[in-house]
Amino acid sequence: ADAERLVSGKRREGDDVALRPQTLNDFVGQRRVRENLAVFVKAARDRGEALDHVLFHGPPGLGKTTLAQIVARELGVGFRATSGPMIARAGDLAALLTNLEPRDVLFIDEIHRLNPAIEEVLYPAMEDFQLDLIIGEGPAARSVRIDLAPFTLVGATTRSGLLTTPLRDRFGIPLRLEFYETEELVDIVTRGAALLGVALSADGALEVARRSRGTPRVAGRLLRRVRDFAAVAGRSPVTAFVADAALSRLDVDGAGLDTQDRAYLRRMAEHYGGGPVGVETLAAALAEERDTLEDVIEPFLLQQGFIQRTPRGRVMTALAWRHLGLAPPPSPDA
Ligand code: ADP
Repeated sequence: ADAERLVSGKRREGDDVALRPQTLNDFVGQRRVRENLAVFVKAARDRGEALDHVLFHGPPGLGKTTLAQIVARELGVGFRATSGPMIARAGDLAALLTNLEPRDVLFIDEIHRLNPAIEEVLYPAMEDFQLDLIIGEGPAARSVRIDLAPFTLVGATTRSGLLTTPLRDRFGIPLRLEFYETEELVDIVTRGAALLGVALSADGALEVARRSRGTPRVAGRLLRRVRDFAAVAGRSPVTAFVADAALSRLDVDGAGLDTQDRAYLRRMAEHYGGGPVGVETLAAALAEERDTLEDVIEPFLLQQGFIQRTPRGRVMTALAWRHLGLAPPPSPDA
């Protein structure tokens, strides 16, 4: 089902390369994060030192990878990218690290999915720029120490709580990304339309922005689909009316919720009386991974006030009942 999902958190080939901002100044939103980075980057540059290790955390599609690239560019250093699951053996990590030039940025996406044995190798590399490797096996095994060039590790994860404490503690600069405001997404969509050569009216940009789940990656995707729809229907410029027709066809509703979001809420309403219900139970009922619920679906529903987390599980709010067009169950204390 996920492969079909329009607003999936997963990356799709080539989907947003053209829209990627190149500098901190071009990067819209996340003001606090940008201001912090600007200061730390400048200080590191002025001292001629590697920037301290940076950890970005937040839901998918908010700009973690983009910011990592921008940091390298603003530092004027090289950029290498990999991801936690791609580093299978300590030797893979050693090869990456020994190839870094002084002050380079190494970006590890999904860093919470690093295998624990590899995490151990990473600690001295982050702390002292040293690698301790065991070469050979059995009685002939010996350990060698390799000095590394000072480098900056930029890690990205959906939730910082997924990291082990020793790994988390080794990042001097932890930064949390938030969902974007509609006005910020209007900027992003307007800029994206110009890059893609789409004629988009102001109310068309607002309509796409409002329905982008607070997420630039989703905004970029919706914009492309709206563009296709408008081209086929021969509608230009794209107005709010045209955008609405396209987005409704894509099953993105007025609040930006897609079929998967609504399935989540409906299941909760119809089978669990609106909760409380545990996340494991919901995941099983929806045939989804628990991680998909926690990393992709729930953060936006929580932020928008459609659900709440309680010690006994997830609970739907009155807003969610109204959104589904259903009557909430009578409240126990009414
Ligand atoms: P993450 O690594 O957090 O999943 P990405 O950095 O891959 O997210 O961002 C997804 C896409 O969204 C990018 O390719 C870029 O096109 C777009 N994007 C993200 N943040 C912004 C932003 N602040 N302004 C404009 N576009 C953005």
